[in-house]
Amino acid sequence: MDIGRYKVTGRSPIHLDDFNTHETGSFTSNQDIRKAVEKNVLEMAQWQSKLYAEGKTGLLIIFQAMDAGGKDSAIKHVMSGVNPQGVEVYSFKQPSVEELSHDYMWRSFKALPPRGKIAIFNRSYYEDVLVVKVHKLYEQLNVPDRCKDADTIDKRYKHIRHFEEYLWDNGIITVKFFLHVSKDEQRERFLSRIKEKDKNWKFTKSDLDERSFWNDYQNAYQSAVNATATKISPWYIIPADKKWYSRAVVSQVLLHVLRDIHPQYPRVTQEQRKALSKYKEWLINEPLNKQ
Ligand code: ATP
Ligand code: MG
Repeated sequence: MDIGRYKVTGRSPIHLDDFNTHETGSFTSNQDIRKAVEKNVLEMAQWQSKLYAEGKTGLLIIFQAMDAGGKDSAIKHVMSGVNPQGVEVYSFKQPSVEELSHDYMWRSFKALPPRGKIAIFNRSYYEDVLVVKVHKLYEQLNVPDRCKDADTIDKRYKHIRHFEEYLWDNGIITVKFFLHVSKDEQRERFLSRIKEKDKNWKFTKSDLDERSFWNDYQNAYQSAVNATATKISPWYIIPADKKWYSRAVVSQVLLHVLRDIHPQYPRVTQEQRKALSKYKEWLINEPLNKQ
């Protein structure tokens, strides 16, 4: 699988239309690809264990998508093998009154991964240049006028680029996924959320309202990707009409990222090794406490 074709590093502007939503590479079904995903998930777990033990690098994984784009299921499947101690998942919803009284990055700062851990953002500060752009929500903020003028979104792109560079300089790597679904596939998924009882809770009228802004959202995504894709924190635009394929690509990308980080278990010094064999002797020679 060539993941390079989904990667955007900001070298030249991309058009979302050039990224198709339904491709599945050389695979035709989940059956074909399931083994590969399972293998990736196992290897990811091994790297994560080293990442945690080494405690040098943090990993921030961002999932963005249109409604019903498959963020939840991608997160669930791809992270299924990792040690929950080393991973936190945060879902960013509409900001609360308290969150709105702070700068827009405030809630993300609190959720950043410490070095050694992985944080997954299900939606993120990118909402502040997506839904906020589409509906000009920044105009409703209780802030000085200079903080909500016409170039507010452009300024935010700049903040985000700097923020991700700041994280990079602090040992935190940011990887961003846009699960790219078609409007037709979203319709199918909404219909199944309505038809299937167990999925009813996932559907709200506001999903339909937002759907009517489809083109505005696509433009907002395209602009955000172009303004914030960099070599150190690239975007991956993942074909997401087939969930099994998007999961496979996401797992492959994350595996590559972890391999690149190449975390290692801390090395044991000669002195520590000597001490360990002494402790081993103690334990072996300890009288058994037979009952
Ligand atoms: P699903 O894809 O399963 O519907 P979801 O991520 O859409 O999951 P919801 O609770 O349906 O979860 O929606 C969260 C909503 O919060 C989204 O509509 C999103 O645009 C909105 N939101 C997130 N961050 C912000 C923000 N900073 N400002 C305004 N709205 C936001
Ligand atoms: Mg939703």
